[in-house]
Amino acid sequence: MSTSEEPPAQPEKKVTKSDADWKKELTPEQYRVARQSGTEMPNGEVYQQFKKQGSGTYYCVACNAKLFSSKEKFDARCGWPSFYDPANAKNVKTLMDPDGMRLEVRCNVCDAHLGHVFSGEGFNTPTDKRYCINGIVLKFVPDRATDEKPDSKTKK
Ligand SMILES: [Zn+2]
Repeated sequence: MSTSEEPPAQPEKKVTKSDADWKKELTPEQYRVARQSGTEMPNGEVYQQFKKQGSGTYYCVACNAKLFSSKEKFDARCGWPSFYDPANAKNVKTLMDPDGMRLEVRCNVCDAHLGHVFSGEGFNTPTDKRYCINGIVLKFVPDRATDEKPDSKTKK
């Protein structure tokens, strides 16, 4: 999962780009998930990173919109990053899959595919919802990243 020390500037309006531009800006795996509704491998490297991350905020890797935070993160043991609610609901939208079986989760700003949301599975969370999200399309910014490592410019 990509990480950043500074919270990114928030997009002020919808982000629309051509397929060719997205292909240039995203890695092949990010492109496959975000623009082609792909799914990353469960329990992969990104998920291992996710499990170790402390408090912080998750942004859309394609457009920087704030999507989720560690406050709503929980361990669903499903192999993908899970949240019980978005951090900024207006940046997250859901729509029914064409087969009518699952609710897809997308970034409401750039329309990137993020994952799926499931309800009523019996998790002991305030919403009993599981936003099952591909970590590859998230960018993590740890809380208070800026007041740590004052000498990070001199050391690599
Ligand atoms: Zn986005």
